[in-house]
Amino acid sequence: MTAVIETRALTKSYGSVHALDGLTLSIPRGGVYGVLGPNGAGKSTLFRTLLGLIRPTSGEALVMGGKIGDVAASRRMGSMIETPRFPPYMTARQVLTWLSQAHGLKADTAKVSRWLERVGLTEAADRKVRGFSVGMLQRLGVAIALITEPELVILDEPTSGMDPPGIQEMRALIRSLADREGITVILASHQLLEVQRVCDRVAIMNKGRLVREGAVSELTASGERLRLNVSPLASAMGVLGDRGVLEGEAIVAAVKRGEAPALIRALVEKGVDVTEARWVGADLESVFMSETGSIQTAESIHAD
Ligand code: ADP
Repeated sequence: MTAVIETRALTKSYGSVHALDGLTLSIPRGGVYGVLGPNGAGKSTLFRTLLGLIRPTSGEALVMGGKIGDVAASRRMGSMIETPRFPPYMTARQVLTWLSQAHGLKADTAKVSRWLERVGLTEAADRKVRGFSVGMLQRLGVAIALITEPELVILDEPTSGMDPPGIQEMRALIRSLADREGITVILASHQLLEVQRVCDRVAIMNKGRLVREGAVSELTASGERLRLNVSPLASAMGVLGDRGVLEGEAIVAAVKRGEAPALIRALVEKGVDVTEARWVGADLESVFMSETGSIQTAESIHAD
C-alpha cells in the first residue's frame, strides 16, 4: 500500500497551543480519505502544513513522496482549503480559464466546459461570481483544484454551504474522482453521515493528535449490536439485563457475535418469540463521540 501522505511526529505549536501534537499518519493512495475532528482538532493546520502554507514546528511529512514544498510533488496535487474568493466581476468560466492558464495549462475551452459541467455549474458558467452562493463558490473551487488533473486532491469542507441535493451531487463527484479517475481524495468534513457515505477510510483527530484511524467499515463494525424483534419485550429484557436497550418496538443488544446463539437460545427457553435478529453497525457519529468525548452533535461540529 503506497502512501500519498506520510507524517511523522508532525507538530505545529502556536505558543502553548499545539495545533498538531506529534501527529503520525499515513494516508494510502486511492480512494476517499476523511479527516474528522471537532473544532480546533488541527485539521486545517494539517492541510495547510501539507500544502506548504505553514511551516511545522517539528516533525516530518512526505507528500506524494516529496518533502513539503517540493515543486514536482506539488504539481501532482490540487486543493481547496477554504471557501475560495474570486474577482467578483469575472464569470465562473473566466475564473476557471484564468486560473488554469496561471497553472501553465494551455487554453482549452472544452476542458473548462467539461469541468464546469462536472461540478454542476454549466447553467451558471457565464454568470458573474458576484452573485454566487457559498455552495457555488465551493463547486468552482473544486473545479479549480481538479483542472490540472492532479493525482491527489485535498478538500477542506467541500460541502459546506450546500443544500442536500448539492451535497449528494458533490458526494457522487468525489466518489467518481476516486473510482473512475483513480484520484486520491482527502477531505475534512463535519458532516459525519456524509463522511460515512463517501469515505473509505478516516482519521479521527482531537487536540492535534490522531485518536483513531481505519476503514469506515472496520470502525463502524467494531461497535455493532444485535437488533431483536421479540415478544414479549419484558421477558426479553429480563434475559438481556443491562445489555439490552429498548429502541421503539425493538431491543438493541450489546453482545458479541459469538454470544448470539446462546442469547437467542436463552430467549426461546424463556418463552420469547424471536421474529427477527440482525446485526446493525455503529454509525461513525457514535465512534466519533466516544473517541473525542465530544458532546457536540454531528451538525454542530464545524471545522472553521
Ligand atoms: P480545525 O481545522 O480542526 O478546526 P485548526 O487547525 O484550525 O483546527 O486549529 C487547531 C488549533 O490551533 C486551535 O486551537 C486553533 O485555535 C489553533 N490555531 C490555528 N491557527 C492558529 C494561528 N494562526 N495562531 C494561533 N493559533 C492557531
